[in-house]
Amino acid sequence: MIVKDALAAHAAFRRDAERLLLHCLDLAHEDRAWLIAHDTDELPNKVLSVFEELCQQRQTGIPLAYLLGYREFWSLRLRVTQDVLIPRPETECLVEWAVELVGEYGLSRFLDLGTGSGAIAMAVKSACPELSVTASDASARALAIAAENAATLDLPVELIESNWLSGLVGRKWPLIVSNPPYVAANDPHLAAGDLRFEPISALTDGDDGLGAIRTIVDESPAHLEPGGWLLLEHGYDQAADVAKLMALRGFNCITLRHDLAGRPRATGGCWTS
Ligand code: GLN
Repeated sequence: MIVKDALAAHAAFRRDAERLLLHCLDLAHEDRAWLIAHDTDELPNKVLSVFEELCQQRQTGIPLAYLLGYREFWSLRLRVTQDVLIPRPETECLVEWAVELVGEYGLSRFLDLGTGSGAIAMAVKSACPELSVTASDASARALAIAAENAATLDLPVELIESNWLSGLVGRKWPLIVSNPPYVAANDPHLAAGDLRFEPISALTDGDDGLGAIRTIVDESPAHLEPGGWLLLEHGYDQAADVAKLMALRGFNCITLRHDLAGRPRATGGCWTS
């Protein structure tokens, strides 16, 4: 079968089929222009059968990132498996904010809590190579993926297994950043799209979606240097709740940032007490 006909059979999710075909051809670095230029190329049977298998899995809803085994984030290619959340573009606003603070205050150290694939930690490290980066996660399987990404991308980070801050006793940072699980357990989005296949513990606290955020806001002051910042990603409708939790805990300079789509997406505060 030729390229054009193989793709025509998957018109319903054409763009994903194109990415999968390039992946099967070992041409993941190419784009659809290659496929157009080669649309009458004959596909080897072996390639075709792997491609058909992947398309079938995509049709059942398995996220493209898990089928490819990677997702681009902050121009880094990160390995992802079903053990980690698929990095989202909206999280880049948290990275930008962290990078700004590192530059503004000349920070030398930073902690990414609940790192998953290592997306935030790797992105900040790539933008600030001198920074000493620590990344934690409660999941040993997630940390194994983060370690693989750190090695492949040559971005050394310290990895620690810890349920939020409980495993980081006695350690302090001038900047702590986290994209915690914040989807409420009754949010219908959990049963739709990619989220159905992602680790549930990375998406929801099993309650109102603010459980992990409450824990981090409560526990982080013991781990922040004086004047240190805590930045948290949250749901588009959680900004007021997160700001309130931070204010009650005694944070100052509480600030909201919006994601690329213009939705309220991250709240930060400074610990000056
Ligand atoms: N932003 C993700 C979503 O709503 C959720 C990620 C998270 O809970 N940290 O799809």
